[in-house]
Amino acid sequence: MLTLSGSVAILAVAACTKQGGSPSQGAVVCAKPEKMTEAEVNLRAVQHYTETSPDPQKVCAGCAFFKADVQGSCGSCDLFKGPANRGGKCDSWSPKA
Ligand code: SF4
Repeated sequence: MLTLSGSVAILAVAACTKQGGSPSQGAVVCAKPEKMTEAEVNLRAVQHYTETSPDPQKVCAGCAFFKADVQGSCGSCDLFKGPANRGGKCDSWSPKA
């Protein structure tokens, strides 16, 4: 059963895919809320994860937590322990050394 907080978090993540950080039409969505636990969804919502970064200079592909271990547009994030979009971003973005 999904709790109210989980529902709010899922809506927050879903909203991220429809507003400023939204992937463009036909773009790949890597982090799918329906495939994550409530805790995973909540963490992404708190960190304001978006599939498309509002700042082209700060994208997941340039973040120290990103691993390009998946083919295509998706990789994985060490912080979230799950998928992340190469062009995405969250509040914990840190440049690669
Ligand atoms: S920590 Fe880095 S790789 Fe992970 S979602 Fe945030 S910006 Fe992307």
